[in-house]
Amino acid sequence: MRDWMTRCRCKWYSLCPLRRFEEEGKISSIWKRKYCEGRWTDCERYKMEEKGEPHPDNMLPDGTIERGLK
Ligand code: SF4
Repeated sequence: MRDWMTRCRCKWYSLCPLRRFEEEGKISSIWKRKYCEGRWTDCERYKMEEKGEPHPDNMLPDGTIERGLK
């Protein structure tokens, strides 16, 4: 079960700052369903991570910087 779950998620899932924002109710779980557990290769955070490019914690998967998010 665990292997299946791991394969169906972005490899950065547990380390991603979006987890805390979700837990604190600051962002919708739609992001997680659409990207982190779905098409994570479309995530701007993922793409930048793969290229070793720095990106802020408050950047959403579509690349939007959410200024109030911290
Ligand atoms: S936000 Fe992007 S980088 Fe973070 S876990 Fe989701 S898909 Fe991966």
